[in-house]
Amino acid sequence: MFNAGDIVKVLIPNVVNAGYDYRLTAPADIGALVRVTVMMRPYVGVIIGPGDSNLPPQKIKSVSAVLDGRMSANDLRWIHKMADWTMMAPGAVLRLILNVPDAFTPPRVEQLYTWAIADGTRMTTQRQMVADAFAANDNEAMSAADVQNIAHVGASVVRGLIKSGNLVPADVRPRADNQFVYQYLDTGAVTLNTDQAAAAAVLAGCIDAGGFSVNLLDGVTGSGKTQVYFDALWRAYARGASVLLMMPEIALTAQFMDRFAARFGAPPVVWHSNLTAARRREIWRGVMAGDIRVVVGTRSALFLPWQNLGLVIIDEEHDGSYKQEDMGNYHARDMAILRAAIAGFPVVLASATPAAETLENVALGKYGRLRLTSRFGGAQMPDIQTIDMRGGRAADYVVAGDDAARPGMLSAPLCDAIGETLGAGQQVMLFINRRGFAPIVQCRHCGWAAQCPDCSVGMTYHKRLGKLLCHMCGRTAPLPKTCPDCGNDVTMRGAGLERIEEEVAAKFPGARTALVSSDTMLSRAALERLVHKMEDGEIDIIIGTQILAKGHHFPNLTLVGVVDADMGLYGTDFRAAEHTFQQLFQVAGRAGRGATPGRVLMQTYQPEHPVMTAICAGARDEFMASDMAARRCAQMPPYGQLIALIVEGQKESTLQSFCAQLAAAAPAMRGGKIMGPIAAGVYQIRNWYRMRFLVSGPARANLQPAVRQWLSSVRVPANIRIKVDVNPQNFM
Ligand code: ADP
Ligand code: ZN
Ligand code: ZN
Repeated sequence: MFNAGDIVKVLIPNVVNAGYDYRLTAPADIGALVRVTVMMRPYVGVIIGPGDSNLPPQKIKSVSAVLDGRMSANDLRWIHKMADWTMMAPGAVLRLILNVPDAFTPPRVEQLYTWAIADGTRMTTQRQMVADAFAANDNEAMSAADVQNIAHVGASVVRGLIKSGNLVPADVRPRADNQFVYQYLDTGAVTLNTDQAAAAAVLAGCIDAGGFSVNLLDGVTGSGKTQVYFDALWRAYARGASVLLMMPEIALTAQFMDRFAARFGAPPVVWHSNLTAARRREIWRGVMAGDIRVVVGTRSALFLPWQNLGLVIIDEEHDGSYKQEDMGNYHARDMAILRAAIAGFPVVLASATPAAETLENVALGKYGRLRLTSRFGGAQMPDIQTIDMRGGRAADYVVAGDDAARPGMLSAPLCDAIGETLGAGQQVMLFINRRGFAPIVQCRHCGWAAQCPDCSVGMTYHKRLGKLLCHMCGRTAPLPKTCPDCGNDVTMRGAGLERIEEEVAAKFPGARTALVSSDTMLSRAALERLVHKMEDGEIDIIIGTQILAKGHHFPNLTLVGVVDADMGLYGTDFRAAEHTFQQLFQVAGRAGRGATPGRVLMQTYQPEHPVMTAICAGARDEFMASDMAARRCAQMPPYGQLIALIVEGQKESTLQSFCAQLAAAAPAMRGGKIMGPIAAGVYQIRNWYRMRFLVSGPARANLQPAVRQWLSSVRVPANIRIKVDVNPQNFM
């Protein structure tokens, strides 16, 4: 306990900070949240210990206020450990937690608006985005700033909508605090089967015993992992602990919320990136006060100010969305486990295709494994086969009103299967993980290809947009009628979603189709509408990207066609095979979840590739074992440690000379080595040039201190930025 007049060190939530000294004006403890100013700007910071600067006393500023929130010693330890591991500054980690700026001020009184639209009004894209923003927030009134942030529209659009009467000023006051406090109860709606009960018993044992543990709940899609971890959730909640359930954003579906409510009598508090400022504030405060004890959310929910956190469940633990890559690089699964190890509570990881890192920890005996071996209720796993695409293209097709045949992407066997499925009154899903119409727009005469002027990637033609689009930076350009270099015709190469849609329309003119990608599904509400149409049988063929691969349960979907199963294999990333396997397995898991068994057809030019044979044989363990054996030889994660440095600059010459300087300063790494600089996979993004270094070493090499020392030995010019990525997932 510190007294008024004592000098304390306060950690400020900003990127460079490790703590500044302040004088207390009232007694406060370590961990207390305080209001201070830094360079005239107000901050909420946290007291991390006694002050230690040798500034003259009159130069030390006073704490403006001690707030009624605090962090535990374990929270502070976690912040510092996380900073050590990720190489972020402690202040940058704190910023992930104290990211609700007005949490300690009374709710702002702002003009709020509700959404109104007369039936029959034409819905433009922008209007739909605004409508969806309201739908995603239970149609609560929101401020103009919320509308802008959540719907991703500009201020002028909002002004326009106010003028046109679509945004109606609402006479509502901010809600009372903690509207989201629910009392959950075990409705006893579910009886676990033998496998499930055995897994639940182990988890119950861990929860009752307390202390740190990690268990992998390993079971195919549909085996009932959700029911088992719901059981654990209830157990911890009933004991008075707080529980965090993390999921990828696209798995936070209405279907899931309904299941939660059916089991616990009330919907969960949900945390994700599209909440209104008022709701964020309310949830943050509710969690801080210990009133909200169960949250279902995305990776950032780990950084809510948890009180007495007693269980973290991470569904789809292998999912790429747990890795944050801008504003600091961290892996939410790993940071949750770190938090649990420090505070001493259990973690449950759930997946049908666990990450190699997780499997290795199981093999080492650090994590337990609970297996659910079959789908619940005797539902069959789908029959999975490849279609060999070698030795001939897929059948060409002709678009109505146009007599030139176009090269098709759908093979005869796949088309036959689609026809049979539609004939039986069942639904089809076609999966292609590429947005737009054609990824390459090229002149066959001189070789010119459409390229983004700001990024070193080609531009994709999007037919609905009627434009070329850069998938890296979002820049658009008109589609040239003729080659800008030689005047000959341009051609489209490769196929994306929209081209498959065109081919389906030509080959199955009577079928009702729907497209699902981040271009068409601009919000969760839009996705929900589509899910309902699918459930109501208003869609025959759903064509989509990976958005489709998660969570949904469509009983009448019996055929999944993977248009280009090889697509993920072309990457040079050492995880390409693992990720392709996970993705195909997940897509395949959509088929036949009801009474009728499903089938999956994967078009491939490499039917003998280990990924393809393993998927067909359902040989996940064998596949992962051989993939991991190869990584062991190459000393790649999980058998080695990697730290990537991405160095970016707007001037190529400055970047190159700085990289040369950095390379010259590279230390000898004990047990490790430094590779680079090399041009990054995508050399230019948004006009920034990019170079990479890769530091590698054996598994427990602890490379961070050497890298930290290396970086502190050079002066970084103002127009250069360095991103440090510990255990990178992305090698772009
Ligand atoms: P997973 O999370 O492994 O994909 P789910 O928990 O979603 O599996 O279960 C798949 C389906 O089986 C769901 O419709 C779920 O409600 C049902 N189910 C699973 N276990 C049970 C159970 N013990 N009692 C009733 N229904 C169950
Ligand atoms: Zn040309
Ligand atoms: Zn671009």
